[in-house]
Amino acid sequence: MNPLRLLLAIYARLERPLLRFNYWLVRSPLVRWPVTRQLLWLGAFLPISYAGAAGQPMTADEAVELLQAAGEEGVIAVGPCGCRTVHCGCDHPTRTDFAVYEGVEAWSRAHPAQYQVLSLAKAEAIVRDCRNRGMMQVFYRTGMGGGAGYALCNCCLDGCLPLMNRRAYRNYRFIRGTQLAQVDADRCTACGTCAGVCAFGAREADGSLDVRHCYGCGLCADACPARAVAMVPRERGGG
Ligand code: SF4
Ligand code: SF4
Repeated sequence: MNPLRLLLAIYARLERPLLRFNYWLVRSPLVRWPVTRQLLWLGAFLPISYAGAAGQPMTADEAVELLQAAGEEGVIAVGPCGCRTVHCGCDHPTRTDFAVYEGVEAWSRAHPAQYQVLSLAKAEAIVRDCRNRGMMQVFYRTGMGGGAGYALCNCCLDGCLPLMNRRAYRNYRFIRGTQLAQVDADRCTACGTCAGVCAFGAREADGSLDVRHCYGCGLCADACPARAVAMVPRERGGG
């Protein structure tokens, strides 16, 4: 077995206990006290986010394109979100995790009763439904984020453990997506909706955008009642 497959096979089996431990850790008082907070960063959160898997946010359309490409190379399987399954701490749907590429074999073998192959049309319906609920699509890769992708998750702001880790530690690593938000100042009414949905702190209540912190999820564009936000290719948006 090649090293990547072996790594994924091990991780797929250990994922739930690791996530359970992560949930306990990120909600513990240890994260609030300065000394233990720093120790936890160095000993746990930094290695997890830099040496382990890293997530790349994307728009719903990009997610559907990714699923299409993955489906052309193999199959797509859907199973329960590991984060929401271990903590049941939010009321978002759980059967929303897609195993793709090398992830299909690893997760289907680790949890044979929970992962099922599904069609692209059904996968797209899950993506669109999750987006309508304010969830973002995140593609996970191994090996410092540069390795093979194995899962496309539908992440909620109050249940996704990597996003909770990011809220606790601003340097918790995500990979920037290929898109960037762009605000039409003439249309913006400064309603502040975008600031409430951005998990990366890129938006302010007055509608301003700090492109350095935009990861390209597109949630603010979907939520903006004035349709003042467009998603553009990152190289064109200057981020
Ligand atoms: S949601 Fe739209 S209109 Fe409201 S502040 Fe943000 S960009 Fe402006
Ligand atoms: S600014 Fe908008 S597109 Fe960028 S990360 Fe925040 S919510 Fe996502």
